[in-house]
Amino acid sequence: MGVDRYSGLPFVARFRWSVGKLMERFYRSFEEKKIMAAKCEKCSYTVVPPRQICPQCYSKLGESCLVELSGRGVVESFTEVNFKLDGKGGYIWLEKPEVLAAIKLDGASSTIFARVEGDVKLGSKVEPVWAEKTEGKPSDLIGFRVIE
Ligand SMILES: [Zn+2]
Repeated sequence: MGVDRYSGLPFVARFRWSVGKLMERFYRSFEEKKIMAAKCEKCSYTVVPPRQICPQCYSKLGESCLVELSGRGVVESFTEVNFKLDGKGGYIWLEKPEVLAAIKLDGASSTIFARVEGDVKLGSKVEPVWAEKTEGKPSDLIGFRVIE
């Protein structure tokens, strides 16, 4: 029995799990390089990634609440990181530090956390960086880049 190269566990997990209807739509829209949010029909709070319950008024959010965002946004806070997780309980030190930022996307009430390329400052305007070939998977959205 080998060790699963992704999880580091001594077995290969052969199952699929659901992220829920709204998160599934969120990831599938990456194939078309779109970022979807859920806008509450009661209080207009717009959460990204979309959740099934409004974080502000606790109303149930369904597929009719999904709205497309432009993908552009503003950096609200950020930090530098010097390593990333290797998926096996360890770390991989980076040759060059990366910036992780809380980004408020235009039209959203909440922030999304992602890697940002460029000269990042508080208030920097950013746009998404997509994989060359998108497949409707989380890895399609590589991060964001500073545009202003
Ligand atoms: Zn609400």
